[in-house]
Amino acid sequence: MSIQLFGMAVSRGVAIGRAVLVASSRVDVAHYFVPADRVEQEIGRLRQARDAVAGELLALKRDMPADVPQELAALLDVHLMMLHDEALTEATKGWIKDRRYNAEWALSAQLEVLARQFDDMEDAYLRERKADLEQVVERVLRHMSSDPSAQRAPALAGRSDGEPLVLVANDVAPADMMQFKRSVFTGFVTDVGGRTSHTAIVARSLDIPAVVGAREASRMIRQDDLLVIDGDAGVVIVNPSDIVLEEYRFRQQQSDLERARLNRLRHTPAVTLDGQAVELLANIESPGDAAAAVAAGAVGVGLFRSEFLFMNRGGNLPGEEEQFEAYRDVVQAMQGLPVTIRTVDIGADKPMDRMSPQELRHEHGLNPALGLRAIRWSLSEPGMFRQQLRAILRASAYGKVRILIPMVAHASEVVAIQEALQRARQQLDDAGKPYGKVELGAMIEVPAAAVVIDRFLAFFDFVSVGTNDLIQYTLAIDRADEAVAHLYDPWHPAVLQLLGHTIERARARGKGVSVCGEMAGDPAFTEILLAMGLRSFSMHPARIASIKQKLLRADTRHLQSVLVQVLESDRPDVALRLALAEPVASGVAAH
Ligand code: PEP
Ligand code: MG
Repeated sequence: MSIQLFGMAVSRGVAIGRAVLVASSRVDVAHYFVPADRVEQEIGRLRQARDAVAGELLALKRDMPADVPQELAALLDVHLMMLHDEALTEATKGWIKDRRYNAEWALSAQLEVLARQFDDMEDAYLRERKADLEQVVERVLRHMSSDPSAQRAPALAGRSDGEPLVLVANDVAPADMMQFKRSVFTGFVTDVGGRTSHTAIVARSLDIPAVVGAREASRMIRQDDLLVIDGDAGVVIVNPSDIVLEEYRFRQQQSDLERARLNRLRHTPAVTLDGQAVELLANIESPGDAAAAVAAGAVGVGLFRSEFLFMNRGGNLPGEEEQFEAYRDVVQAMQGLPVTIRTVDIGADKPMDRMSPQELRHEHGLNPALGLRAIRWSLSEPGMFRQQLRAILRASAYGKVRILIPMVAHASEVVAIQEALQRARQQLDDAGKPYGKVELGAMIEVPAAAVVIDRFLAFFDFVSVGTNDLIQYTLAIDRADEAVAHLYDPWHPAVLQLLGHTIERARARGKGVSVCGEMAGDPAFTEILLAMGLRSFSMHPARIASIKQKLLRADTRHLQSVLVQVLESDRPDVALRLALAEPVASGVAAH
């Protein structure tokens, strides 16, 4: 039966493919694809872990004191039986062989399938056996997670039949998202998340259709269901009828054609109708993204989210040398174009390891967005911070590098940052390691910093507005929480005022100002940002062509002349459309 699920449209286009459910488990489950030549080895890992657990259970049974109730021994028998049940073992092998899931992923996928079968059972006793199955599987998963031969790096491999796959999950941790980035998924659906949650950001950076906040999706959708993701409308259609499928295949072709047409703008200079040159920069998350930035026609990197280098490492952080190589690789790949490296923004919705924001909240019961994140975290780990600064400084010997500091809000932080930079330079001098000149910039993403922007401009060479967080903190809306996502409003007059004020003050002082939040890559906001005087936009490479198309048709003189009237309006979006005499667009798909 075909069903429709509704969520938030966060990345445009249509995806059609088979559902791959990524189960949420109490155990940390790694998800990656194994190459064909490792399939047998992976099945071997599964067998080994299962045998080890069986050994443990048998030993428990054998050593059981005589006065222990009979039921307990019987329960161990049930667990042993489940462990060897074909419905678990054979089907799990199937996921490894056919889909090339790693063993842990395969096992948790099969647990999901069986858990649903238990849920559907009439008999209450049998239904309750689901908990036993979960315990058994978790035991096996724990065994595997301590297995040193587990290969954590993702491999580029999909299904042998090449059928497109769509990822369905309750939520995806940013660390996992990075792995999926190099994989085969053609679309994403999650139960939770907001428009600027990191799942959404990565989906946009991949330029693949995604719907987040689809609430019941991971419960309603089953492994292998055929899915249509309508990334423009925020709709997921499960097992569509032939007619619906045909309609969407047609739309998919249309959007591919549109994409190809936009790509032709790649090398067109980004200049408005009235001759204003605009800088279009790229947001990247790993050195490997630099090639896409150059190919998309970016004139530099406006935001390198360095925290992704720190994720998925089980707390084993990258040292100076490893970081230096990563930064140098980006600088070299950008072929002389400037590279803005943001110091690590760990914390809040970007925990270091595989933990979703929801899990993080459950674990700590606090609001991590207001906690020790970004520069606060760096300053609390001074040795680590200096190490990162040294690595960035050394990369600056290979090209133009700028340092960007996230979440700056206090004057005391500015002093501490300058001292750390000074010491890092001194340490490099002492070690005789070369480094170049770097500009120092601040992200303006805490409202306090935007309000007193003049004070910060005295210390920094440039600023970059992180609208994702600026909106979150101005409106007190958790950017990753779908329950309040409808209130996450970039058009809110308070947000626009802070944004306009920051741009205006930076320009008045002759300092560089850019926007690197998702607003910069959403054509719905190109005109208002141009009207405010913004001439530097940083976004995912995949967004550059659409933004360029928009600004090629813009006249900044006209836009500036309507700015005051737009900002005074209660509905700036409507006022801007009216001022530009365009029909009012409803809903903004990409944001
Ligand atoms: C932002 O907050 O707008 C931003 C660009 O940083 P991040 O999304 O990584 O928090
Ligand atoms: Mg931010």
